[in-house]
Amino acid sequence: MSARELTPENLREILSGSRVLIPLHVAPDGDSIGSALAVASACRHLDSKPTVVSSDPVPTTYSFLPGWEAIRRPERVGGQFDVLLLLDCSSLSRIGRVRELVDRAKPGERPLIAVVDHHRTGETVGDYLWSDAGAAATCEMIFDWMIDQGLPISGGVATALYTGIATDTGFYAFPNTSAGTFRRSAQLVQLGARPHHVHQKVNEERSMAEIRILGRALEKMRVAAGGRVAWTEITRSDLTDTGAGTDDTEGIVNHLRSVAGTELAVIFVEMDTEHTKVSFRSREYLDVAELARSFGGGGHARAAGAKMSGSIAEVRKRVIETGSRQLRLREAGGQGK
Ligand code: 5GP
Ligand code: MN
Repeated sequence: MSARELTPENLREILSGSRVLIPLHVAPDGDSIGSALAVASACRHLDSKPTVVSSDPVPTTYSFLPGWEAIRRPERVGGQFDVLLLLDCSSLSRIGRVRELVDRAKPGERPLIAVVDHHRTGETVGDYLWSDAGAAATCEMIFDWMIDQGLPISGGVATALYTGIATDTGFYAFPNTSAGTFRRSAQLVQLGARPHHVHQKVNEERSMAEIRILGRALEKMRVAAGGRVAWTEITRSDLTDTGAGTDDTEGIVNHLRSVAGTELAVIFVEMDTEHTKVSFRSREYLDVAELARSFGGGGHARAAGAKMSGSIAEVRKRVIETGSRQLRLREAGGQGK
């Protein structure tokens, strides 16, 4: 089944007067949370009833965003929904346990599925799709939609959208940052977003556990492929020793990429004895979305991830070998540096 194109008018029409389920994606980030809170606000102006739900715990880093406290866990959500709106992801496998809420709907009562995403999508679910791989963040798309549709953007909503854009662009540093990113952000600041405040909340209120796990990860960092691959790993005992949770490991991989000469940075996080979360970042030319897809994951050309089956040692061996091989191939092909 291929999805129909979701136009701004369609999206308004689909949401109007409906019961709308808005899941965050697993391991929710600023863009997932920001876009969900903004759409939930838009829904209230469209006489619809939004429910924002998250399978994974929502990082307290984002608790400064109005509406954060109303995000529910799947076990606390009941009833039926007319619409399932996937933001910042385009597959049911990315919404964790929220999928069960959709699967248990009786035939004929299945919600309509609409997708708004800026990832290059392979296979997609859904009846309606708005995909824009040129957008730096899903929050850019939602901002454009709200402006286009004349939907009010309060200071709180501006902050949520600004936060999604800022976090997905590494605070305007990643290659996805464009003139349009700055133009939208400037408008959001006019509407009430406060850049210093957002930076402070997101980047300068770390817990000691987060700093300790960062230290541990940097200490354990190794290189491969003549220094072009930098990698590290976090085991369950690293988490226990430092008192950190897996969400405290978000962002560590960006530090690895900052080492001179590195093209590919990888972090392995042991989920349990049989599952490992892998995050990939590249600097200039390696397509890590493709690399992640070869392991069942996905993402963007310079930032991607995968949840893999296998012990951390097995996964590490497989990924470092494949990553190093792909780097050599790129370089032999003359496309690399
Ligand atoms: P991170 O490494 O920060 O978790 O994720 C980097 C990017 O890759 C994000 O855009 C995220 O959506 C995507 N990503 C991370 N893990 C997965 C995964 O298991 N599957 C897919 N499709 N995308 C992922
Ligand atoms: Mn995003």
